[in-house]
Amino acid sequence: MMDFSEIFVGGQWRAGGGGQADSINPADGSLVARHGVASVADVAEAVEAGQRAVADPEWRTMLPHVRARLLHRIGDAIEAQAEHIAALQTADTGKTLTETRALALSAAGTFRYTAAALETLDDALTTPRGPYLTMSVHEPIGIVGAITPWNSPIASDAQKVAPALAAGNAVLLKPAEWTSLVSLKFARIVEEAGLPRGLLSVLPGPGATVGDAIVRHPGVGKISFTGGTVTGKRIAAIAGGKLMPVSLELGGKSPTIVLPDADIDHAIAGILFGIFSSTGQSCIAGSRLFVHRSIYPDFMARLVAATQALRVGRGTDGSTQVGPLVAFAHRDKVAAHVEAAKAAGATLLCGGQAPQGEGYDKGAFYLPTILADVDHGAAICQEEVFGPVLVAIAFDDEEHLIAQANNSVYGLACGIWTRDFAKAYALARRIAAGTVWINTYKQFSISTPFGGVRESGLGREKGREGIRAYMQQKSLYWGLNDQPLPWATPKTAL
Ligand code: NAP
Repeated sequence: MMDFSEIFVGGQWRAGGGGQADSINPADGSLVARHGVASVADVAEAVEAGQRAVADPEWRTMLPHVRARLLHRIGDAIEAQAEHIAALQTADTGKTLTETRALALSAAGTFRYTAAALETLDDALTTPRGPYLTMSVHEPIGIVGAITPWNSPIASDAQKVAPALAAGNAVLLKPAEWTSLVSLKFARIVEEAGLPRGLLSVLPGPGATVGDAIVRHPGVGKISFTGGTVTGKRIAAIAGGKLMPVSLELGGKSPTIVLPDADIDHAIAGILFGIFSSTGQSCIAGSRLFVHRSIYPDFMARLVAATQALRVGRGTDGSTQVGPLVAFAHRDKVAAHVEAAKAAGATLLCGGQAPQGEGYDKGAFYLPTILADVDHGAAICQEEVFGPVLVAIAFDDEEHLIAQANNSVYGLACGIWTRDFAKAYALARRIAAGTVWINTYKQFSISTPFGGVRESGLGREKGREGIRAYMQQKSLYWGLNDQPLPWATPKTAL
């Protein structure tokens, strides 16, 4: 087992100024490891080391194809250690090994895609309006703060660190307190792959101190944040004061829509995966289900039966579909949402409690839950639960559907199940969301931009343009005159 007692500050492994914290396995409450915690002084030191590293000609003048080779090496190293990363992440978060393996491989793929995109990212000659050449070029921002949540640690880390490094920056990564171990392991991998010293710091610690210090530090030129909307707004307000760019990937309450002509087997499998995989702890979880009233009773009967058949258990058990929640406190929060919904009149169709029996008593488990018979304005339809909780609503026609589906502060994702492609297209264009899945759900490609509208976020990650989000554009004008500029040229004497 790796020693997690040290943190990675400016290329150096050492004790953090914030002491130590425990990482607890939510499957049984056992201690996974103690890990180091950063302090505000560590943030300042990481910024200074980053500033030196980005100014160093070794990094500043490194050509894109050479930086790309480095990113490839990081991707290869992540893949080579994917099993270890997956096991660590399963212990830290409770997620199933199937999922954590996929997250590790996705992180490796992110580095490789970013390397390829970097090699093909061109600057431009623009059209001049006079005797000069005009160029639009892009330069690094300098120091980027990357703040990530606990739900997909290695994938979120890679999604920010790969493009930020590709763009030529140094990065201060602040992982979530519940999942610092994987980010510290990630730092070891990046270091061993040969990233020049000081370009990456990994600073575990509380968001309110370490995260806040990163956001406020005058030397930090951009924040890339993934997390809750309340935190995102707080960061945006501070960034506004500094006139600092931010990209914000925030919460969601995404609708999934089933039209009467849908392939029911496909729709049920997609809805189960969309809400109950990752134990519902997913920003894009399809947590509001809209089913056409003509098929609602039969559809819901089948969906409830399929939900009750899901296998809840430890993430290390190969047959498990739904692991524990990330922490006991989070499980209690999820349960409180369900109790409040029931108290407000919702009907519980299944779940609504922790599973009983041996193997469940020590872990933060909660059964996949479906609620129905709620008014769309109710809290359970409006608030992000971030757990295995689905709320089902019948709709009558397209206007009724759109009015409810778009009645949300969020706009992250949407699922549509129908065989009518024209209808799917029309609906997809009317839904307020950054991503719409048609006859599928929760599928991702690193080449396709991702982000939210409304309170689900600001900016986009992924895709070739994802690297540009970590750069600042500059315009160059090259004079081609063989005469001085006419305004200052002395007039010929009278
Ligand atoms: P969170 O409480 O907002 O925390 C996210 C990160 O921000 C953590 O590292 C946290 O540190 C840090 N943080 C907290 N307060 C801060 C502050 N004042 N200044 C700077 N950093 C601060 O969110 P979470 O509970 O970890 O994650 C769940 C949320 O993330 C959900 O809302 C989910 O929808 C969203 N999410 C969105 C996406 C997306 O791509 N749109 C993807 C995944 C998750 P601590 O660990 O100390 O709290």
